[in-house]
Amino acid sequence: MSFTLAIVGRPNVGKSTLFNRLVGRRLALVDDQPGVTRDLREGEAKLGDLRFTVVDTAGLEDATDDSLQGRMRRLTERAVEMADACLFVVDARVGVTPVDEVFAEILRRKGTTVILAANKCEGRAADGGLIEAYGLGLGEPLRLSAEHGEGMPELYSILKPLA
Ligand code: GDP
Ligand code: MG
Repeated sequence: MSFTLAIVGRPNVGKSTLFNRLVGRRLALVDDQPGVTRDLREGEAKLGDLRFTVVDTAGLEDATDDSLQGRMRRLTERAVEMADACLFVVDARVGVTPVDEVFAEILRRKGTTVILAANKCEGRAADGGLIEAYGLGLGEPLRLSAEHGEGMPELYSILKPLA
């Protein structure tokens, strides 16, 4: 049995970069259904010997500030419902923002399995944000650099028991 992991979090934290790293070119066809379905990208992820389905909440990229809140909530809830676990990504260079707090609240309310990831962790610029991420109350953040491929063995160790 495999599992489905949803990558959630506000725009620009690096969700799609991580999705692309996990999926490579194995991008699944997505049904062209109305509503939020087309805003969720699904792919077949490969990480070491793990194979699983990964969902990226891609539809937030073109949302304006005004439309972001509702859209984000709908998309995130939809992704959570599809998934066995969520990888909640924050940007360690920016630190925790009020929008991140909204995501944490959605995830807490859904009662889903949450893996907190602090992305953009390469270099010292991430140290402050990493400490702030502990304050989300979702446990120790996984240090990632989606762009540089750092933290992948640690992500593997966390996901392995789900397989
Ligand atoms: P999304 O909106 O959450 O899907 O974020 P994207 O994957 O589109 O990335 C947003 C920006 O962050 C892009 O400019 C990426 O190149 C950059 N980015 C993603 N991952 C990293 C990382 O690990 N380190 C740094 N420094 N930048 C990153
Ligand atoms: Mg994206």
